[in-house]
Amino acid sequence: MTRIATRRDWLKAAGALALAGAFPRTAMALGNFDFGARSITVLSDGNLVLPAAFLFPDLPKDEIDAFLAAHGLPTDALAPDCNVTLVRDADRTILFDVGAGPNFMPTAGRLTDSLAEAGVEAAEITDVVFTHGHPDHLWGLIDDFDEFVFPEARYRMNRAEWDYWRADDTLAKTPEARKSFAVGAQARLARLEDRIELFEPGEEVLPGVEAVDTTGHTQGHVSFMLHEGSDSLMIVGDALSQASVSFERPDWPYGSDHEPERAIATRLKLLDRLAGERSAIIGYHLPHPGKGRAERDGAAFRFVSD
Ligand SMILES: [Zn+2]
Repeated sequence: MTRIATRRDWLKAAGALALAGAFPRTAMALGNFDFGARSITVLSDGNLVLPAAFLFPDLPKDEIDAFLAAHGLPTDALAPDCNVTLVRDADRTILFDVGAGPNFMPTAGRLTDSLAEAGVEAAEITDVVFTHGHPDHLWGLIDDFDEFVFPEARYRMNRAEWDYWRADDTLAKTPEARKSFAVGAQARLARLEDRIELFEPGEEVLPGVEAVDTTGHTQGHVSFMLHEGSDSLMIVGDALSQASVSFERPDWPYGSDHEPERAIATRLKLLDRLAGERSAIIGYHLPHPGKGRAERDGAAFRFVSD
């Protein structure tokens, strides 16, 4: 049966072409591996561009510049990748976060292209699980036409995260630089009101997927631990968000954390656990596909990518 192309199809195609021309694709858009009976694909949503002044507002600039330069990183801005984890088993096709969508940054919001590249239809997604409500994790919920990108999915979020963004005073309390984050989260979470299932950290949110409390980056940020025999794999979200800084200087306050002191305590505890248990990790903003391990390195840690 021939399907008649709608205006929406044409716009989508035009957008895809424009993007392909404007932004050269990275050589490897997908990271595929098996974890027991589950098949895991790390999909690229593109990348962010974040000024160093936003990421490190509370540290002496010369100290930060020296650290970044020693790691071969630019000192003016960082361009972290965005890695969305897709987990498939016999029963479900699960996405961990939904990317930035079309309205956050021109370099991000490519998840639907990456899904197409992986041969997965948006309607095949049975479950979406959120780490937190920041734009690059949540705004891909709705497309340019104000419709759900994953129409068949059931959605899950930590209750504390939901309550934080939904509270009446959150917008007023949010610093000026991030007010658009709050407005954007509130608009999208309102759309989820009848579809969302809220959970608590420590619960098994889906079979074999345990929510781990990693608050600090946001008030209700969670990571997800998958177990397979004696192996474990944690989808860390933004609890460890920069491959050098988060591991080697977990004690540094980080500008994208809502509660920097709490985020530091969370990082130290999390790194200790991940290194001790030799867990594999997938980091949302670690170099694509973001998979590796945390290893002890003297008093601190280092990220070892696979
Ligand atoms: Zn975040």
